[in-house]
Amino acid sequence: MPAEALHLELLHSCPSACLACDHRRAGSARLSLAALAPLFSSPRFKGLRLVSFSGGEPLLHPELAAIMNKAAGAFPAAALVLLSSLYDGDKALALLRSLPAAVLARLHLGSSLDGPAPLHDELRGRPGAFAALKKAHAAVKREFPRLSTGFTFTATRLNAAAFYQTWLEAKKLGAPLGIQFLAPNANTAGLELGAADKKALAAGLKAAQAEAPSGNLAAALDFLAGKPAPGPCGAGTAFYLFSPEGLFYLCPFHKGLTAPPGSESALRRRLPSSSPSCASCFLRCAR
Ligand code: SF4
Ligand code: SF4
Repeated sequence: MPAEALHLELLHSCPSACLACDHRRAGSARLSLAALAPLFSSPRFKGLRLVSFSGGEPLLHPELAAIMNKAAGAFPAAALVLLSSLYDGDKALALLRSLPAAVLARLHLGSSLDGPAPLHDELRGRPGAFAALKKAHAAVKREFPRLSTGFTFTATRLNAAAFYQTWLEAKKLGAPLGIQFLAPNANTAGLELGAADKKALAAGLKAAQAEAPSGNLAAALDFLAGKPAPGPCGAGTAFYLFSPEGLFYLCPFHKGLTAPPGSESALRRRLPSSSPSCASCFLRCAR
């Protein structure tokens, strides 16, 4: 299967301390442009349809613009996705101003929105996070009105009942809200959804779907209802993740399965034949 998506985690550093995130304990590793060069010239990734840049907080990376430019040139058919907490609107604007129009035309800017202001701030571990996000997003849209933007809600026990309210906040901010579920790590204990949370979340998803149907929300409803995954898993075949340490890894549920550049094709074969994570993976892929 040809590789379709490459997700680059550029660094672990981040000014936020989101409750469900494990980057803050992961050290100071950072990918350099030089370290990415072999990926950008690898035949495996020639036909990519998507490249994402995340962290940590990618706006903290001193080579972010150069890396995005190089990736845009190396993968001409790929959509570009930048995932930032938008904690600093000036930094976001400075980056966008430095990118060529042809790169901006292919770029989507994604950010997390985990609730209305107090809930978002609590889950991001950063007082004022919601206000900063709102201000930064508005400034970006003012100066780059044609830039594609969107928000993602990570469902936890703390915010499950607030999905629809958050969806309305996103609407007010002027961008769609998608959803993702927790990938377990050392910080997620106690945040998992219980039966009542799932029920409240499904009600919120249905309310949003009734106003503006989306494939992502429909998939989330199917997931909550326990419906079988729709297709084969693309981890280590169609999509690859690359860590700040310069290692490929299989997927957010199997961060321990890593391989250096050049050996990434072996990753998938190392996945245990029956993995409980695969049975509860919202990426909606069967194995
Ligand atoms: S903004 Fe992203 S990288 Fe930073 S702590 Fe939150 S989830 Fe982790
Ligand atoms: S199905 Fe398994 S290997 Fe594939 S993305 Fe989900 S958890 Fe990872």
